[in-house]
Amino acid sequence: MNTNVVCPKCKADNCTYNDTCIKCDTPLVGDEVRILDKTADLWNAFLKLTDGHPDERNEFKLCVHRMQDILSARMAAKLTEGIFKTFRDSVKNAK
Ligand SMILES: [Zn+2]
Repeated sequence: MNTNVVCPKCKADNCTYNDTCIKCDTPLVGDEVRILDKTADLWNAFLKLTDGHPDERNEFKLCVHRMQDILSARMAAKLTEGIFKTFRDSVKNAK
């Protein structure tokens, strides 16, 4: 899936491969969206496996959700500058 990314600030339509908006230079979440799509691919591929332990599906699902949680937090930090502190902020403030 190759979804375009809408700029949260100016609503410009950007390619998912842009790191920043083509119009206003706001940080975008294209990398996270691409990885998020891959977590869905992982889940769909896993569902096609046969046999295995009865608990595997639920355990795999929890791992997929954990990856999606981390990606969501990264996206939130990029799109809500100043609300969620990023690692980059902590390094910058430590200097
Ligand atoms: Zn923009």
